[in-house]
Amino acid sequence: ADKTKYSYLASLNAAQLKAVTASPSIPLQILAGPGSGKTRVLTSRVAYLVQHHGYRPYEIVAVTFTNKASKEMKKRLQVLLGEKAADALVLGTFHATCAKYLRRYGQLIDLPNNFIIADADDCKKMMSGLLKSRKDILDESRITLKEGAVLSEISKAKAKEESPDAMAIRAAQDPSSSTNTLAVIAELYAEYEAGLREANSLDFDDLLVFGVKLFRTAPRVLEGCRHILVDEFQDTNTTQYELMKCFAKAHGGVSVVGDPDQSIYGWRSAEIENLNKMIDDFPGTEAIYLEENYRSTGSILSAAHAVVSQDRDRIKKNLYTSHPKSTPVTLKVFSTPVIEASFIAWEIKRLIAYSGGVLGYDDFAILLRYNALSRVIESALQKDSIPNRIVGGHKFFERMEIKDLLAYLQLADNPGFTPAFIRVVNTPKRAIGDKSVADLIAAAKTMKVSPMELSERIIDGEPLPASLKPALKKNLASFVGAVRKLRRAAEKGTPVGDLIRLIIDKTGYEEYLRASQQDFDSRWENVQELISYSVTVAEEQARQAAGDTIEDGFLPANSAAVEAIVNRSQAQEKEKEQVKLHPLFRRNTSGLSDDSQSRSRSRSTSVVNGRGNIKTSEGKNGVIEVLSSDDEDERRDEKPNRHLSAKTEVKRAGSLEAVESLANAPENMTPLAYFLQTSMLSTDTEADQEDTYQPKVTITTVHAAKGLEWPVVFIPAVEQGTFPSYRCTEAHEIAEERRLLYVAMTRAQNFLTLSHCQFRMMGGEENDKEASEFVGMVNRHQPGLLSTTLPDIDLAIRRYMSTMLGRPPPNEETTKEMIFKHVRAAPPVSTWDAPEPRDKWSNRFARREVTKAARAADYWA
Ligand code: ATP
Ligand code: MG
Repeated sequence: ADKTKYSYLASLNAAQLKAVTASPSIPLQILAGPGSGKTRVLTSRVAYLVQHHGYRPYEIVAVTFTNKASKEMKKRLQVLLGEKAADALVLGTFHATCAKYLRRYGQLIDLPNNFIIADADDCKKMMSGLLKSRKDILDESRITLKEGAVLSEISKAKAKEESPDAMAIRAAQDPSSSTNTLAVIAELYAEYEAGLREANSLDFDDLLVFGVKLFRTAPRVLEGCRHILVDEFQDTNTTQYELMKCFAKAHGGVSVVGDPDQSIYGWRSAEIENLNKMIDDFPGTEAIYLEENYRSTGSILSAAHAVVSQDRDRIKKNLYTSHPKSTPVTLKVFSTPVIEASFIAWEIKRLIAYSGGVLGYDDFAILLRYNALSRVIESALQKDSIPNRIVGGHKFFERMEIKDLLAYLQLADNPGFTPAFIRVVNTPKRAIGDKSVADLIAAAKTMKVSPMELSERIIDGEPLPASLKPALKKNLASFVGAVRKLRRAAEKGTPVGDLIRLIIDKTGYEEYLRASQQDFDSRWENVQELISYSVTVAEEQARQAAGDTIEDGFLPANSAAVEAIVNRSQAQEKEKEQVKLHPLFRRNTSGLSDDSQSRSRSRSTSVVNGRGNIKTSEGKNGVIEVLSSDDEDERRDEKPNRHLSAKTEVKRAGSLEAVESLANAPENMTPLAYFLQTSMLSTDTEADQEDTYQPKVTITTVHAAKGLEWPVVFIPAVEQGTFPSYRCTEAHEIAEERRLLYVAMTRAQNFLTLSHCQFRMMGGEENDKEASEFVGMVNRHQPGLLSTTLPDIDLAIRRYMSTMLGRPPPNEETTKEMIFKHVRAAPPVSTWDAPEPRDKWSNRFARREVTKAARAADYWA
């Protein structure tokens, strides 16, 4: 019956349906191969929990592995549930989710809510400073340490919740090393932590570590969470697993999906063992297997299977597809990477030109083992004017100009964030040399203030510390002036785009860029892009603020609505009780720093509701905080019901909102704080920049491509030493590389081309190269599975269309013919450097328009 009620259930197969509709109280583990609809099941389950079981969207926490994946999930749920409901879900990566909670409730563990998320670059700089400061000691004991290596050791420790002290103890107990590098690292770890705290910042791992800390200290903040769903569970680390447990604890609802064959983050402490741990920790966990692959053609699946099954220890799984075999997978060999790259560019154009507009740039992906391989590819695509985006390469937020502007914004929001101070105190140039900056920092340290604050004091007329040069005061003036202007504007809630313009204006940043950088145009474009991005973020914030309205049965967010409910309940229940304040509320009114007190300027009114002990207080922006000390049992016994009585409505709100009232709900944050949080989080592993929509070829690492799919995929550099990487020597490392290639190959829906070169420059040396052992093995055991000739394009495109568009179009029986009509005769296939079909090429957009309508019918929805 549900199948007809909820359209998204109709397209699921039996196993998928079982998984989606399984009782929310049974812990669920969905294990299945790539493309079998795991993510789709998870998404549908979210919708089903809301629509069928009456969960409120904000009671559901859905965790994806990348920001991009959560965006896709959100888009899908916006369609299924409506925009408001989708926005109310707690949906994001573990990092983003923790950041959200920490921003709101961090004060419960003494974390100021304006903490900054330090990115990889900030952390590296800090570590290199620490290493420099103990250079002599290190030299003496002949220990060589690189900041990257130390940071990765620290990251590993954080992934398993190991403190600096615990690491020191481990080092002391380790008999193997006499000089004990680990002991030194433990010291560095402690100093690094102190440095982060001093700068009021968290690194990425800290988001998880502090998340666990918060949820253990104040489990109450998670009371509103009734179900947690985790995608790509095979790649969770210990800390993430602990987080999942915290979330699941409140109500026990947990669903995870994963694929052991796709575990590719072992190098970053992912624990495949979490799958078994879950079975121990959640008694009665039910496993569901999905076996039909909906993504790829038969040829692609066979080739991918031939790679992954080389691992003898792997647990065998069934995976079949009802798609035809279609075009064979191609394996090409080239002499050099430059030729390989121009082949890829050429092939992209060939496919687009002859697809009659069916394929667009965004249907193509080039998946790389390393970021560094992208340079050659990028320039080949650029030469052929093929629009492309690099995901996880030159990350947008790591570009010099973007970091500069962000640093100003960070300083305005949080003067204690010293990395930002160091970055821009002399950018643009203000005659403040490195030495002066170092002296300033040292002086600030002895005075126990931040360098920013010291600078401000100097400008305000405080005597210059003796260690500083007198000229400093004059040189600091314009900098301090700019930051102050910016801060005042930010506090008034000025849109971030205007703040950025203010920085440019006050610091002469445009002239500085023009004078000092060769590629001014592209840098200036990035600046403009940052401004557009800030507008998008502001819209998102506004949507969130407007999100909860009473008609939807969500938490009431405006005072009139709450009062209406409260009055109604008051009429129903006459008896009144003494208002008892929840301890959390007491903290809100008295325990916070003066600063946040004045910021929230709350006006309290108490309303007594029967036995519910309700108190509301109206904070800034008219956001009502409803507080109650309602009894737990009644809450638990509540039948899931979308239309709860007014009384329960307020009571349910009570327990969650009591805690929420502590701080910074997104709608309470200044535009600047919200912007910084959002942009800092997208500097996470993949940093996908969804710029103004223009179809682009995606260039990305395989790691960042996880969970995604494209009709056409190229995997270059499938060479020994590159794929598997030369760094991987042990059997388990090689096995992870093999799974990585498996993940790469299974991203392809219809066309997959692997290639390798005979020479490749590595570390400045040209090396002879052989094909990867993984494809070598396939060729030895299953000759013919990988074709060396390029596909006949016309045939291939027809096959593509019959696979992808083959199902009868819903309303337009002639659509397929219409598409075929636009497919021209096949070009020569004997050599890839045949002349480019200019006439067809230049017409491509016209044809794309014609077939857009056909695509829009969304055959594979
Ligand atoms: P991965 O392991 O790579 O993350 P996955 O198991 O999560 O893969 P999905 O991304 O959910 O797989 O699904 C792969 C593709 O198959 C998607 O395009 C999805 O829409 C489609 N698909 C899944 N289930 C069905 C179905 N029952 N009918 C039609 N298409 C489906
Ligand atoms: Mg998936």
